[in-house]
Amino acid sequence: MSIQVLAPEIADAIAAGEVVERPAAALKELLENSLDAGARRVVIEVRGAGKTLIRVADDGSGIPPEELELAFRRHATSKIRRLEDLERVSSLGFRGEALASIASVAEVECRSGPARIRLRHGRVLEQGVAPPSPGTVIEIRDLFQNTPARLRFLKTDATEIAACRRQVEAYALIYPGVRFELLVDGRPALRSSGSGEARDAALAVHGERIAVELMPVESHGVRGLISGPSLSRGNRDGILLAVNRRPIFSRSLLHAIEECYAGLLERGRYPVVVLNLELDGSLVDVNVHPTKREVRFHHESGIFASLQRAIRATLEGSQVPNLVLAERDTSVAAPMTAAGTVSGSWGAKSTARAALAPAGLPGADPDEPPAARAVGQVGPGYLVAEAADGLILIDQHAAHERVLYNRLLARLRAGGVASQPLLLAEVVELDAGMRAAADDNFRQLRDLGFEFEDFGPQALRLTSAPADTPAARAPDALRELLQVLAGSGTAGERLEGAAASLACHSAVRFGDQLDPAEQARLLRELDLTEPSLTCPHGRPTRLLVSWAELRRHFRRNY
Ligand code: ADP
Ligand code: MG
Repeated sequence: MSIQVLAPEIADAIAAGEVVERPAAALKELLENSLDAGARRVVIEVRGAGKTLIRVADDGSGIPPEELELAFRRHATSKIRRLEDLERVSSLGFRGEALASIASVAEVECRSGPARIRLRHGRVLEQGVAPPSPGTVIEIRDLFQNTPARLRFLKTDATEIAACRRQVEAYALIYPGVRFELLVDGRPALRSSGSGEARDAALAVHGERIAVELMPVESHGVRGLISGPSLSRGNRDGILLAVNRRPIFSRSLLHAIEECYAGLLERGRYPVVVLNLELDGSLVDVNVHPTKREVRFHHESGIFASLQRAIRATLEGSQVPNLVLAERDTSVAAPMTAAGTVSGSWGAKSTARAALAPAGLPGADPDEPPAARAVGQVGPGYLVAEAADGLILIDQHAAHERVLYNRLLARLRAGGVASQPLLLAEVVELDAGMRAAADDNFRQLRDLGFEFEDFGPQALRLTSAPADTPAARAPDALRELLQVLAGSGTAGERLEGAAASLACHSAVRFGDQLDPAEQARLLRELDLTEPSLTCPHGRPTRLLVSWAELRRHFRRNY
């Protein structure tokens, strides 16, 4: 399509706004133009944090000489013509605004094919011929010199350079078939191979250590690479999401990704993710944000679910294989009542071991062969076990916490946690905030197994506690729960937080002595829960030393 100025009614229908507020934004627009032109190679040079020079040279289709000046007019584009085109744009650009905006705040020179144009602050300085070369070169100099307010708003050079670099990285990751080279102040800063392999692009951007760990995702219209439980970062900078190969920001899809890693990564740790969602154009509206960073989805919940299914399919394949022993260990069946409370010798104990009984979970079947044979307890609170895959070291507190957390969530879903009357009601002192939280969350607390009565303005009289929580720990558990329930987050998040807190208060402690039967029960239960490798707070529950590793170490063949 040739470049034409959009009719006013179409231009008006386009989300207006500032597109070049910093050097990285100008660079992003140039990269998009090169990719829209079908470039296979893009060379980028940044000097003076982008304020001195941004130069992008590509080998794309180029701009016809007679259209070169038009390309710098506002709303001049070759990518859409009519309003209907907006609904199905497949190009990264479509507003016809970027070159005009950039030329209004800088000096710009563009060479394409045999033609050349130079503009400054929106006015054409000269036009002429250039030695013919494939593709297009655009140079932006002295960005924002005529808008000192904008210059003042820029961050430090290091931050602006990092932002430029991130833009190149994003497109390099999403377009592995395009070779990107970035030079910052004359020094090579990034070079992707353009091989078409996502992992090669990840290697260029994230380095070898990370690239080799990434696992492919390819289902439900979602493609890319993700990290597993063994790799994480302290911020979200490693998460890149694209829709139809347009990098986007979406709070809800970010949430969808993070949810898949809940329980696999410690709190505050984030995965490395590069994913592209291939969606029918009618399901996504890109014309909602001036820099096209945010998009609107139709049927967002379906997209959310597809993304999660695709990620989970990969993550599940990566879990430590389920630990199953061929032989049966018959020592571990424990009696329990239908309500899930424990009878027999353990029931009388006031320690957390009472909760080390088989859970009332679906499929919690005492006839199942045990996952592993408990060998014993070592150090202050580790269990050693032997399984089909190797030797397992278990943090007894973290592991029990995970078991209880899963059990609590399952019971909450099924209608509520089993409660046990306290032999002696406990008066629990509260501050005003906790007291208010108790009133506000009366139903949630009852579902979690706490029953209480009013006891003056600053206290409650606790009459029943969750069956899995030792009575002596119930007051502290309740106090912490009230803080969690009064905290921020959605109702669901707060309830999950409450379950995590309750599990922590109810689990065996790291220093507790466990007898062999108790050890065996914990092992059995740990295997019955989902194959999470961490406690709900993110601390690892177990370490597997495989037989293969042992054989390698001791140089044995069997
Ligand atoms: P948009 O990308 O929204 O169309 P721009 O202002 O970014 O608007 O660019 C205007 C037009 O200039 C584009 O539609 C395209 O036809 C042409 N153009 C810009 N950069 C390039 C390039 N690197 N290669 C080929 N054509 C380009
Ligand atoms: Mg553009």
